[in-house]
Amino acid sequence: MAATKQRAGHRARKVKILATLGPASHSPDMIEALFRSGADAFRVNMSHGEHDTHAKTIEAIRKIEKKVKRPITILCDLQGPKLRVGQFKGGEALIRHGSHFTLDRDETLGDENRVFLPHPELFGILEKGDRLLVDDGKLRLRVLKAEKDSILTSAEVGGRISDRKGVNVPDAVVPLAALTKKDRADLSFALEHGADWIALSFVQRPEDVAEARRLIGGKAALISKIEKPSAVDRLEEILELSDAVMVARGDLGVEMAPEEVPPMQKNIVAAARRSGKPVVVATQMLESMISSPTPTRAEVSDVATAVYDGADAVMLSAETAAGDWPVEAVSIMDRIAIQVENDPGYGARVHFTETLPDETTADALAAASASIAQTVTVSSIVCFTMSGSTARRVTRERPSVPVLVLTPSIETGRRIGLLWGAHPVVTKDIGSFEEMVAKGKRMALRYSFGGAGDRCIIMAGVPFGTPGSTNVVHIVRLSGDELDGYDS
Ligand code: PEP
Repeated sequence: MAATKQRAGHRARKVKILATLGPASHSPDMIEALFRSGADAFRVNMSHGEHDTHAKTIEAIRKIEKKVKRPITILCDLQGPKLRVGQFKGGEALIRHGSHFTLDRDETLGDENRVFLPHPELFGILEKGDRLLVDDGKLRLRVLKAEKDSILTSAEVGGRISDRKGVNVPDAVVPLAALTKKDRADLSFALEHGADWIALSFVQRPEDVAEARRLIGGKAALISKIEKPSAVDRLEEILELSDAVMVARGDLGVEMAPEEVPPMQKNIVAAARRSGKPVVVATQMLESMISSPTPTRAEVSDVATAVYDGADAVMLSAETAAGDWPVEAVSIMDRIAIQVENDPGYGARVHFTETLPDETTADALAAASASIAQTVTVSSIVCFTMSGSTARRVTRERPSVPVLVLTPSIETGRRIGLLWGAHPVVTKDIGSFEEMVAKGKRMALRYSFGGAGDRCIIMAGVPFGTPGSTNVVHIVRLSGDELDGYDS
């Protein structure tokens, strides 16, 4: 693989960095600092904060986008149907190891023996032996008897429980709607404010994704968070209906044994790459940097593993949203990614996952362009795309050279900001083969994706402007004077 190098206004790496914004980072100055340190995309977490704050955050990102003249990706993450217990007398209770504890339909305040469970759906479906994991798995309750109005459990792992703590039920598919009332309101807000990606939390079934897709109506791309064993069981169908997936290791690590998560992560990344859908690896990547300016060796290794596996993006959560060192966290992630991508062994490792082309012209040509880049020396692949699908197919091949993506659509430019190796530039559309060649060369030079004497691969679809029509692969040589006399 060609060593990564800095290009005019573009990153010196292929994997993308997705940074979550929150109280520690949603000021315009901090967002700009994060962008300049390496964040390519920002996550607005709808589980926290008010619409007013989120609107200001989104507005600040769009202002920075104008200033830096580069599409910036915004992902709005819906909270999803998170289950919670009710409230306690005095706000909390201590459940002793081995004691019995009941969850019921009685709305009165709870104590060390019982609590209200405000989710009628759970009463019909839990069975003896099922687990209820409270407060990110800190407490483990095992169902002894599930009745119509109460669930008697034994506290295998007890501890302090407080008001409205989250409950995970990894052993059952809960008949909950994919989107709560809050999610629907958050979704309308996100679409109105121009979110590029919508993340769907606690996906259990492909039907959940289909429902969200219908509501989004093509106004944004959809990323399904894989955080439930039931979603892992139906991954292929979920991938089929999603535009991308996220390995949401926070909840996945609660619902599954911790040692099950690494192989699961590798399998999800490989499945997504095979299907040509972007994949984000998320949560606790540099966790200790919430309070420390340097990461642990194990965290560095964790980020490196995701990069070697060919994930499209790596995500920072509390490190940038609420931590003391948000800029340092992004900078270190950037440095780890560059170091890995410059390792001579990276190319072989990233191609360990075989991505066989689908039987389509677009896929055959995408695979051909990656193969050409291996056979002859080219400096980049320049890809014209309207919907982004050509860029997705080309980057799926994890080519050895950078991919300059030219699109007339700002929405497409922003969405593909999450894709491995894609450098989006929004520019006027082209109308002829000659124009394609001239513009491809000009842009490659302008953005330093090649210099005088270098060869580039140009990919496009004819007739121009028709989505899904990729049928041209053309190799050009840059003379160096193509920049003269042309506008964008
Ligand atoms: C996760 O669980 O890993 C995750 C990304 O989701 P959230 O941060 O919304 O809990």
